[in-house]
Amino acid sequence: MSAATTRSRTTDRLCAEAVDLARAAAEEAAAPGVVGEHAGLVSEGDRVVTHFFECKELGYRGWRWAVTVARASRAKIVTLDEVVLLPGPDALLAPEWVPWSERLRPGDMGPGDLLPTDAEDLRLEPGYSGDDEPMPSSPVSEEMAELVEAEDAEVTAGTPANLPVTPARGSITSVAEELGMRRARVLSRYGLHIAADRWDEAYGAKTPMAQAAPATCVSCGFLQPIGGSLGQAFGVCANEFSPADGRVVSLSYGCGGHSEAAVMPKPPVPAPPVIDETKVDPFPLRPSADSGSVPAVADEDAAELGHS
Ligand code: SF4
Repeated sequence: MSAATTRSRTTDRLCAEAVDLARAAAEEAAAPGVVGEHAGLVSEGDRVVTHFFECKELGYRGWRWAVTVARASRAKIVTLDEVVLLPGPDALLAPEWVPWSERLRPGDMGPGDLLPTDAEDLRLEPGYSGDDEPMPSSPVSEEMAELVEAEDAEVTAGTPANLPVTPARGSITSVAEELGMRRARVLSRYGLHIAADRWDEAYGAKTPMAQAAPATCVSCGFLQPIGGSLGQAFGVCANEFSPADGRVVSLSYGCGGHSEAAVMPKPPVPAPPVIDETKVDPFPLRPSADSGSVPAVADEDAAELGHS
C-alpha cells in the first residue's frame, strides 16, 4: 500500500485495506484507463476512509480520484460511500472567475465596443429632473431627504428611463433641449472628484516632468482653459511638442515646452541695401578704341546720359 496520509490517529484498518474496492469503484466511474496508482488515503472519521488514485486523464494534471469507503460499527464489510474527482495540492486549476466589469481596465475598449453604464453609476447623476421638482442632489429634494435618512451615499435617484422623454411645450425642459443643454445624466460630485484625482496623478505637480519644469502650465501660452468647475484646476495643453499635448493638465503641471521658459532671440535682420539715386554710373557696352580693354559707352546711351 502507498504511504498513507492520515488526519486521525485511528485509521480504520479494514477501510484502509479496501483499496481494491475503492479502485473498482473509481474505474467504474471514470473512463477506461484513466485511474492511476493509489496515491494515499485519509481517515475522515470513525470507520470512514477516503482513498486517492492518480488521474491519468489529459487536462487533469494533479487531480485525483477520491473514493470514500465506510464500515458500520462492529461490521466486517466495508461499503462504498462516494466517488469523486478532486484537485490535488498541485492540480492544474482554472483561474478564479472574475466578472467582466471588474476585469475591465482603462484602454480596453476598442472600436465598436459598447460599454454599458450602470443605471446607478455613482459617477453620474440626472442632468435634469423636471420643471417642478428640485434636482435630486438638491438639499430640498425628496430623494435627498430619503438618502440623508438612510445615510446612503448614492445620489442617482432617477435613471434616464424615468426622465421625461418629450418635454412639454414652453417648459424649462423644452427650452433647455432647444439650447442643447439637456443631457440625461451629468457628472456627479463623486465623478468630478475621481476624474480630478486621475488627471492630477497623470499630469499633476507631483510628476517628474512637472518637478523638472521651468514653470507651471498656469503661465504657459499653450494652455487652453476649460469650462466648468474643473477649469479652476485644469486646462488642456495645446503644444504639439509637449508630452501632454491634447491632454487635460493640472495648472500646477509643467514641462520644458513652456511658452515663456526659453524664448529664442529673433535672428538679426541685415541692413537694407543703400541705393544712390542722385548719380548715374555709366555702363559701357563695348571696349573703347583708345583705352584698349575699357569698353566704350554706346552713342545712344551717351546721348541719353547727356540729357539726364
Ligand atoms: S507646453 Fe508644457 S507648460 Fe505649457 S501647457 Fe503644455 S504641458 Fe503645460
